[in-house]
Amino acid sequence: MNTEYLKITGEHYNDAEVIDRAARVIQNGGLVAIPTETVYGLAGSALIPTSAEKIFSAKGRPADNPLIVHIAKPEEAETLAYTCDAYYKLAERFMPGPLTMILPKKGIVPDEVTAGLDSVAIRCPSNDIAHKLIEASGHPIAAPSANRSGIPSPTKAEHVLTDMDGRIDMIIDGGECDIGLESTVIKLTDDGCVILRPGAVTEEMLAEVCDVVTVAKAVIEPSVAAEERVESPGMKYKHYSPKADVILVDANMTDFVAYVNANSDNKCGVFSSNEYRTHFTSAATLITGEHPSARDESKSLFHLLRKADEMGLERVYIKLPEAKGEYLALYNRLIRASGGKIVKPE
Ligand code: AMP
Ligand code: MG
Repeated sequence: MNTEYLKITGEHYNDAEVIDRAARVIQNGGLVAIPTETVYGLAGSALIPTSAEKIFSAKGRPADNPLIVHIAKPEEAETLAYTCDAYYKLAERFMPGPLTMILPKKGIVPDEVTAGLDSVAIRCPSNDIAHKLIEASGHPIAAPSANRSGIPSPTKAEHVLTDMDGRIDMIIDGGECDIGLESTVIKLTDDGCVILRPGAVTEEMLAEVCDVVTVAKAVIEPSVAAEERVESPGMKYKHYSPKADVILVDANMTDFVAYVNANSDNKCGVFSSNEYRTHFTSAATLITGEHPSARDESKSLFHLLRKADEMGLERVYIKLPEAKGEYLALYNRLIRASGGKIVKPE
């Protein structure tokens, strides 16, 4: 298959024309990779069963891992799912944005989208291109991250091209994703919600709207056994992993530097702020920012994991962040990317 690569701000196409062409691909059952505020998504109609099948096959995604359905406005969930007051209360505060809510599904949503579950994941993206495409296509859009399954998610169109060239109909290049980590996924409960996957909408932010917010155990478990039943199927897979081994080091900065220097050769890399780059004597530094905030580290994570592979590194050291607040999402992706490998220097 020939994959068309279109830049939304390029010289040759104005925005409306690109959106229009992409909308026709979606309506005809094809796949388009699109930017969202979280990561690039692999978009297909959520109403056409064969579109969902194509998404699974292009990604090599395990068949039991359901897709998130993207809508343009919160009330569009009505045709797809059974909503409730809590949904609208959360939607008012967090939609459009990086929050996905699991709701009981209606019959119109094909089983191919929900992997046979009786619930459906609903999100309303804030990215302008994603938003316009949903509106122009007139379809709700199923869109997982636009990477081959198991490897780091794409945060730039070049990443998508590397993974999906020849496998999908079109890629829209809309620049780098703002957030760089996938959406927060929650399940509603009688008195609040449970976080199934942490993201930029944090536990603390949800607590401003919900009485009780809890975090599912699997979110911070270094490894989830394949046979274990988890509420969100995506939580049990090795995920976000580059070819290089990711080694998380649970230490303060001084001990981290000492550990990396004692255990590195020229095939090793280390995630570092610009400020600390000169402290590392042999590992190649992958720079997360000048004085990186949680947001900066989140935004650069997947790009740097991919870069580690481009550099041919065999091992990458990363200082383990705290499993709370704005760092919880980063912590969750890191323990998945590392396959649970955490070292604690003496
Ligand atoms: P991705 O599309 O790759 O960002 O992953 C979507 C995430 O949402 C995965 O962790 C899925 O398991 C989760 N998810 C999607 N639909 C449902 C659902 N109906 N119930 C529980 N989790 C879901
Ligand atoms: Mg994904």
